[in-house]
Amino acid sequence: MADFYLPEGTSRVVVSCSDRRLSAYLDSEFNDGKTAFVRTAGADVTNIADTLVKLVHVGTEEKNRAMRQVVVLTHTDMRDVTKGCGWAGRLAVEEDARLHGKELDSHFIGDAQISQFIENGYTSREQIEKGNKNVQKKALDRLMGSSGVGYSTDTIDTSGIPTENELEHVLVITRPSVARYSDMAERLNKGHGSMTTIGKFNAYYSQVGTFEEALVDARLFTGALGIHDVRVLAQDQHDNELMRSWAGQLHIQDFMKNVKLTLVTTHGNDNNKARLRA
Ligand SMILES: [Zn+2]
Repeated sequence: MADFYLPEGTSRVVVSCSDRRLSAYLDSEFNDGKTAFVRTAGADVTNIADTLVKLVHVGTEEKNRAMRQVVVLTHTDMRDVTKGCGWAGRLAVEEDARLHGKELDSHFIGDAQISQFIENGYTSREQIEKGNKNVQKKALDRLMGSSGVGYSTDTIDTSGIPTENELEHVLVITRPSVARYSDMAERLNKGHGSMTTIGKFNAYYSQVGTFEEALVDARLFTGALGIHDVRVLAQDQHDNELMRSWAGQLHIQDFMKNVKLTLVTTHGNDNNKARLRA
């Protein structure tokens, strides 16, 4: 895995769901300039285990001893569960199919993951959304239980977050960073021409350290959530070549056939956009 380019003194990792409603909230409640953000569907720790281990250097003696805290944030909607976590909604569908022997056209969530929810007795969507933080806590126990890294989980209630739903939804694939989502949106929008504007609430983020992790998110968001506009964003110029290779690997996936894919590289303050598929 390529190194992360995080400023010295970065002291915690916040992991949250990719959900489009959470970015502004994360900017205002969690971005203190010393927090590295990781995003994946459902805040599913098992999907980003490689990234987390590398970020906190579990199992290594040296390096970034400052990074000693991991916070995992799942989310739900306390007023209307159908407006809650899309990943949990999809998991409920796939779990139901497994439990009742139904056939589904496609699967986006791993068997082992579904089993964890069944074992815990979380079968309805509401149980899955509320129980997700316990499932993620157990995943953290397994991953870093004896490492000395502090970790905790919490659930965000999105019913209190005002959102609008006018702009087409976009998936942004990028790497962990301390950057604000509002700044990333600005970079994505620079010279964007006729492309959909990245507003406050229309971008889902897959913010991970490996292509394999991004691939799981891309498959889910294009397949289960119907997103057909994917942007791969380099966090800084060190990231350009890696993001170019991720975009190239995405480009050849069958599920990306009807999806618009754009690479946004960074040179100083300027973006270079390459439309890989119109
Ligand atoms: Zn979610």
